Amino acid sequence: MTDSTPATGHGAPKLRLGLRNDNDDGWGYAPAPESTDHVELRDRYGLFIDGEFTDAKGGRTFETANPATEEKIADVALASDADVDAAVAAARRAYDEVWSQLAPRERGKYVYRIARVLQERGRELAITESLDGGKPIRESRDVDIPLAAAHFFYYAGWADKLDYAFPGRGARSLGVAGQVIPWNFPLLMAAWKIAPAIAAGNTVVLKPAETTPLTALKLAEIIQDAGVPPGVVNIVTGAGETGAAVVQHEDVDKVAFTGSTEVGKLIRRALAGSGKHYTLELGGKAANLVFEDAAVDQAVEGIVNGIFFNQGHVCCAGSRLLVQESVADEVISKLKDRMETLIVGDPLDKNTDIGAINSRAQLDRIEEYLKIGEEEGAEPFQTSCPVPDRGYWCRPTLFLHAAQSHRVVQEEIFGPVLAVQTFRTVDEGIAMANNTPYGLSGGVWSDKGAKAFRVTSRIRAGVLWANTYNKFDPTAPFGGYKESGIGREGGLAGLHAYLQPEEAA
Ligand code: NAD
Repeated sequence: MTDSTPATGHGAPKLRLGLRNDNDDGWGYAPAPESTDHVELRDRYGLFIDGEFTDAKGGRTFETANPATEEKIADVALASDADVDAAVAAARRAYDEVWSQLAPRERGKYVYRIARVLQERGRELAITESLDGGKPIRESRDVDIPLAAAHFFYYAGWADKLDYAFPGRGARSLGVAGQVIPWNFPLLMAAWKIAPAIAAGNTVVLKPAETTPLTALKLAEIIQDAGVPPGVVNIVTGAGETGAAVVQHEDVDKVAFTGSTEVGKLIRRALAGSGKHYTLELGGKAANLVFEDAAVDQAVEGIVNGIFFNQGHVCCAGSRLLVQESVADEVISKLKDRMETLIVGDPLDKNTDIGAINSRAQLDRIEEYLKIGEEEGAEPFQTSCPVPDRGYWCRPTLFLHAAQSHRVVQEEIFGPVLAVQTFRTVDEGIAMANNTPYGLSGGVWSDKGAKAFRVTSRIRAGVLWANTYNKFDPTAPFGGYKESGIGREGGLAGLHAYLQPEEAA
């Protein structure tokens, strides 16, 4: 143990924070790293404004690094207010002069083209996503990139059918959309934002997160290659100040924000009275409920997928396990066994289950919660897998016997940390699931279809899965209640958010 091991009032400390543990008995998987040979990464990336890459005015930059090695990947332009002005002006010009004048089916062709080039460059994008953000290559290759392409395909199909989607409404676009996204699904979130906006006839200014700008900038290259008219999509990189300049810009008609509840509240306050349309996709603390009639082995896989997918950096992660008391011992014992098989390490290795924590700041935050959980009296369990010497890592962790009042139950940790509680009756389970300021998602595991429907209909969350978890589809609306946000993305609801409301149409 080192000084970084949390102190605890409950005997010897049980959690190890990022320490290496060489317990490989020789029967592990041989490394299977994805080759990076064909991926071209520049040393320096500019802003994408009016169809061209350009340095920030004043030449300021910031670094983006690989969280698995802590090595710098590239310098990225840091957009100032003046750069955001230029991006919004380009978007306005493109909206007035080109995009809003174009026949909808022509718009659709451009969106299809983006989708197809995303597929063609899928491997390169998956590797870039894993390098810049730390997520396992299996996930970026099989989930992030295909879903990003699927969003462009889906919304391309709607571009010339808006009157069928919303009959009798005379569907009209809003104008310029200012969009800000987080670091957990960088390309996918860019797709969620850009695809419905431009398919509906708007132009956009998008700001990616500061730790993961690279795939959005590669998307800018794709948009350029696809011949999309200059100014229809603009991408400005930077941190919170750049994001604030985008969402508060007076010539932005619609704001779409995905990120923390804290920043979402700031934005909502800033937009009050501005007349701008907005959607906010914020945090979550979802309950995954396992009933005594559930198929236990499947439920255990669902629990693992629910909390350890993408290192737990998932807004809809099943970060609270609620398990019925009669099966709790069996579920938890099987869960611990399954967790012991999870491989933490090199995101580019195809065997890796859990990659690097996205940034030093996020690892600090998770480690703070590990200390808090122990201090509050929950019983920690952490797997014994080895982790690399460099980079940011967190072993899969449980907090057993957690109480409803514990901060690890109430607050979003955004890491591979699961709070475990038990319940006796169906009503108690539902009440516990709803006892949270959030309302983004949830899961129910039961052998009885009617019970699954009854329970999910009483959980106040935007997305509920039964006997599965973390399944996404562009046709399905996604979004939250309460502190998880306002509005929906995905499906027709996601398209609707980029069109004039009925009374204005
Ligand atoms: P964050 O709120 O710190 O940052 C999100 C984005 O907002 C970043 O691009 C950041 O630069 C920008 N930003 C920061 N301050 C800003 C300001 N004052 N004005 C405008 N923009 C600002 O969140 P994060 O840590 O990057 O992401 C994690 C959070 O995102 C989690 O809470 C997670 O649940 C949430 N999230 C929600 C969804 C969803 O669909 N509901 C999806 C993914 C992530």
